[in-house]
Amino acid sequence: MTRTRNDVALEAAGLLLGNLAVKLPAAIATLKRELDIIDGYPSTTLGDGMSRSTADLTSVERAADARWRMSGNLDDLRDMATTIVELINTMATMTDRALGTRAPAAEVARCRDAQAGRDGALDWGDATCEELPTKAALCSACYQRERRWRIGAGLAERDTVPAA
Ligand SMILES: [Zn+2]
Repeated sequence: MTRTRNDVALEAAGLLLGNLAVKLPAAIATLKRELDIIDGYPSTTLGDGMSRSTADLTSVERAADARWRMSGNLDDLRDMATTIVELINTMATMTDRALGTRAPAAEVARCRDAQAGRDGALDWGDATCEELPTKAALCSACYQRERRWRIGAGLAERDTVPAA
């Protein structure tokens, strides 16, 4: 597999998710607790308070306003948690699928194609290597293994062998 750098944003997101896994249940519990307190107010006495500014709201109306806001936050937080987990599952599936993606065989040479019949290929080679060739028709990892093998076997490095 090609050596690649980790996605730092995803690593940071992983740490944040771990933190949210701790804080979200507490946040939800807090909203539920405060909603229970508000539920002590009767909400049926709400009048035509719609046209007045917040400053003019009665305590009952303020409670109803807060209830509406907190219920919305509660729903949003639960929806976000569900959406994040669904998104991560979908992304995991797509990523695994992408790792298995190969261009049609006839279209492009692979590292393994250049290994058959090569000196010591059974020792240094990988007949299943799907990487794209970068040097002497091999990927860099296989090229390095071949290079070490050639040096160990007392042969010249392939890229120093003059073209015939
Ligand atoms: Zn290779």
